[in-house]
Formats: sequence, C-alpha cells, structure tokens
Amino acid sequence: MSTDTPITDATVRDVVIVGSGVAGLSAAVYTARADLEPLVLEGPEPGGQLTLTTEVENYLGFPEGIGGMELIQNGKEQATRFGAEFTHGTVETATLEEQPFALELASGETIRTRALIVATGASARWVGADGEDELMGYGLSTCATCDGAFHRGDDVLVIGGGDSAMEEALFLAKFADNVTVVHRRDELRASDIMAKRARDHDAIAFRWNTELLEIHGSQEDGVTGATLVRHPDGHPTAKLESGEVDHETVDVGGIFYGVGHVPNTEFLAETAVELDEAGYIRTEPGMTTETAVEGVFGAGDVMDPDYRQAITAAGTGSMAALDAESWLETREAAEHASPPLAEAELDD
Ligand SMILES: Cc1cc2nc3c(=O)[nH]c(=O)nc-3n(C[C@H](O)[C@H](O)[C@H](O)COP(=O)(O)OP(=O)(O)OC[C@H]3O[C@@H](n4cnc5c(N)ncnc54)[C@H](O)[C@@H]3O)c2cc1C
Repeated sequence: MSTDTPITDATVRDVVIVGSGVAGLSAAVYTARADLEPLVLEGPEPGGQLTLTTEVENYLGFPEGIGGMELIQNGKEQATRFGAEFTHGTVETATLEEQPFALELASGETIRTRALIVATGASARWVGADGEDELMGYGLSTCATCDGAFHRGDDVLVIGGGDSAMEEALFLAKFADNVTVVHRRDELRASDIMAKRARDHDAIAFRWNTELLEIHGSQEDGVTGATLVRHPDGHPTAKLESGEVDHETVDVGGIFYGVGHVPNTEFLAETAVELDEAGYIRTEPGMTTETAVEGVFGAGDVMDPDYRQAITAAGTGSMAALDAESWLETREAAEHASPPLAEAELDD
C-alpha cells in the first residue's frame, strides 16, 4: 500500500487513527462517513496482520472466502472513498496530557489531533525458524482459530508450551489427525487445567526439549515438513554448536506458532492510558472503547487479548469511531455553550 498524503505539522486533526489493520480501516470508514476527515497512520505493517494470510473464510459476507490482502485493499478503498487520508508513519511517543494530543513519529514529524483512535494490533511472536518469512500464511500460521480448518486430516505441529500453545493444540485437534506440541523444555508453562486437557487428548502428542529449526515447503505446495532439534537439557537451538543436538526431519502439513502476542503499545507507556500486565489497552468498564484518557479510544487486537479476530477488530473499530464522534460532539457543544451569566447580570 502506498503513502498518499504528505504530513503537515501545523494541522490539528479531529481524528487520527493509529494503525491500518482491519480495526483502523473500520474506524476510518465510520469517521470518514461522519465527515471527520480522519488521518490513518499506517505504521510499520501497512494493512496489519491480515496481509500475512492468503485466505480468510470466516469474515462475514464472503461465502467463498477472500484473500487477506484483498480484504484490506477493499477496506482502504472504501475508507478513501469517504475522505479518509492515509500516510506512512509510526508513532514513537504520544503526549496526551493536554489538548490537542501530539503524536511524535519515527520520522521526527509531529501530528496533532483532538481525538485519537489506537488500533495498533498485537503482533504474534515468531520463533525465528528458517523458512518462516516465506511460509507464513502458506501452512505456517499464528492463529489456529483462523487457519485450523484448512488442516483437516493433516499432521500438524504446535510450537510453544504455555496456555496459547495448549489452546492452539486443542482447537487444531478438531481438524488435524495428529497434533504434536513442540516445546523447548521438559515441562509445560501452561496452567494445570490447560496442560491436563492437552495431555488427556488422544490426538495430541508432545516432543520435549525440542525446537523448530527449519520449515520445509513452498508457497505453491504449502508446508510439507520441518527440521526439529533436540537436546536432553532443553533449549537445543542455543546448543547447536555443541555437537550434542539431535536433528530430525518430520513430514507435516501445517505448523502453528503458539508463543504469545505482544500488543503494540510501547508508545503509550509514559501516558495515562491504562495498560494491563501484558501491555493491552484497558478500556473503561461496559460496552465502550474509551480509555483512561478522555478522547483516546482503543480498537482491535490492541485492546482484546481474547478474541483476536478480524471481525471483532472491525467491530471495535466501528465502536471507537462512534465513541470518538460522540466525544467530539459533546466537547464542541460544551465549547460553544453560552457562558453562565454572572451574578450581577442575574440581579438586573
Ligand atoms: C497469519 C494470520 C492469519 C489470520 N487469519 C485470520 C482469519 O482467517 N480470520 C480472522 O478473523 N482473523 C485472522 N487473523 C487475525 C486477524 O488478522 C487480526 O485479528 C486482525 O488483523 C486484528 O486487526 P487490528 O487492526 O486490530 O490489528 P493489526 O492487523 O495487527 O494491525 C495493526 C496496525 O497497527 C500498525 N501499527 C503498529 N504499531 C504502530 C505504531 N507505533 N505507529 C503506527 N502504526 C502502528 C501496524 O502497522 C498495522 O497497520 C489472522 C492473523 C494472522 C497473523
């Protein structure tokens, strides 16, 4: 996606949307249709996580499925049609103590805005195996809920040993013939209940003290295999040089990373926006996208550690837009309200 709008330092925007994934795009469509002329900062990953996947089958309205990139491009066109502007720009710090808010970008520029919608997503952690850049979205995934159904009858690997990995494995066991959890230590980090569910499942096996070194396959054929390494004391990739590491290549039709997500909220760390222990934005109680700072709204995966779906991100994106619009209207009404009459004037 290209950058379309030059940044002008002097302008104070009504709404700036940080992030151009499905949540940011949905917020852009709504705020643009409300004539708020939103500026969308596309960030380091224009289009967000959906651009990493080939096929989206569970987004409402596309009975045959739709490519992730196509869905995002359509969303960008839709928002642009109503007047949203897009520009490259990654926010490094945010100053939110006073109005207008100021966003300092990596480029050194500053953007000023009255309302701010944060839709910066949460990045899945990758493990650094050879082949992952080429095969992400082609049989390698970070989302079993999204891509599990493509692996009916396959043998698949799940990488990780925490609750995320157990969730991925249990979900995949509905479709895959065999699910093997690959964990670099000899005991799980997952909660007892999740570990027990996975251990008790007939279709789930474990490879202990093992790590994924290389993924085999191609974008045409998908994932076809994996090279695993094992060391009796665990953490084998750190011991590759020792010569005591066993290598094995296995045939698999899919690999899922379950090593957690990192919400992209570093730039909010010094602000009064409340984050939870993992760094996700805490929104106010109830059905709202308001944050602890008036005029700042959270949308999409960055405020949602639980669902992390395109459709829920789009949903909270639209909520954030409506919340921002309503906040701006209330603020404007208050600014234009007649000042209360002074006591002397009342006496006359
Ligand atoms: C491989 C894969 C397959 C998936 N398949 C499906 C599927 O089939 N169905 C489904 O429903 N979901 C799927 N998902 C999940 C779905 O992609 C996410 O739930 C959704 O993209 C979240 O949207 P978002 O807008 O909240 O965040 P993201 O898509 O993560 O977008 C975040 C945006 O914020 C920007 N950004 C980050 N930091 C900054 C910053 N400091 N300054 C400016 N911008 C910033 C990024 O550049 C990016 O544009 C999949 C995810 C992956 C990884």
